[in-house]
Amino acid sequence: MLKLDRVVAAYDDVVCLRGISLEVRRGEIVTLIGANGAGKSTTLKTVSGLLTPREGTIEFDGRAIAGRSPDAIVALGLVQVPEGRRVFPELSVEDNLRVGAYLVDKRAKLRTTLAEVYRRFPRLEERRAQFAGTLSGGEQQLLAFGRAMMSQPKLLMLDEPSLGLAPLMVAEVMRSIRVFRDSGVTVFLVEQNANLALRLADRAYVMETGNITMSGSGAQLLADERVRASYLGAKATSPGESLGR
Ligand code: ATP
Repeated sequence: MLKLDRVVAAYDDVVCLRGISLEVRRGEIVTLIGANGAGKSTTLKTVSGLLTPREGTIEFDGRAIAGRSPDAIVALGLVQVPEGRRVFPELSVEDNLRVGAYLVDKRAKLRTTLAEVYRRFPRLEERRAQFAGTLSGGEQQLLAFGRAMMSQPKLLMLDEPSLGLAPLMVAEVMRSIRVFRDSGVTVFLVEQNANLALRLADRAYVMETGNITMSGSGAQLLADERVRASYLGAKATSPGESLGR
């Protein structure tokens, strides 16, 4: 569904993606893990059209998208939830969700999509009239997810959704990512919390200084000695980080 082939991208003269190739198939959760500064966010920026690749091709749903504008890419159903959530604090939860539906042209459709988001995220319905700025960090993350869902994406890209959240909220956010997948949305997840991401993902890629250095199923990489040593550390065996499986 999404395919990157030998993509090179740079900020001015600093090359940050050094010819990466990866693939996300329909219905999968695929994660990209790696250390700070490896180029994970840059990969998402390049796919969503915020950065134009210098070389290589990006294909989404059979179309070449490298060089297209971010708006045109969103309109194809490829939607990114940015790092840091970015809800509109002065708007209510429900108005934040409505803003997400700007691509949905029919009122009736908007109502059914909103009902579907509330069904998937009951916590948002309970707080529909509350100002988004007064939600907890985790609730704001769920709202950012709900807003993305309002645009009825085919593929959702998530940048560090667990960042700065308490463990219980992290578990809820991870469960919500499964909710997306179960409702037919393909997910491309960038995470620094490799332990969680690999347990959630069907397949995964490891990124180091602008290169993809490893790939495999989530389970394979969880068991890989190099991944354990570099990215999992003691966390791999820490108790209490249940995803509710
Ligand atoms: P993190 O987990 O810390 O967000 P990351 O893997 O997402 O890391 P990127 O944000 O993609 O890493 O950064 C990759 C490299 O690109 C880093 O060396 C970073 O300093 C550089 N970089 C990122 N954004 C810019 C920018 N706007 N201008 C110049 N260099 C940038």
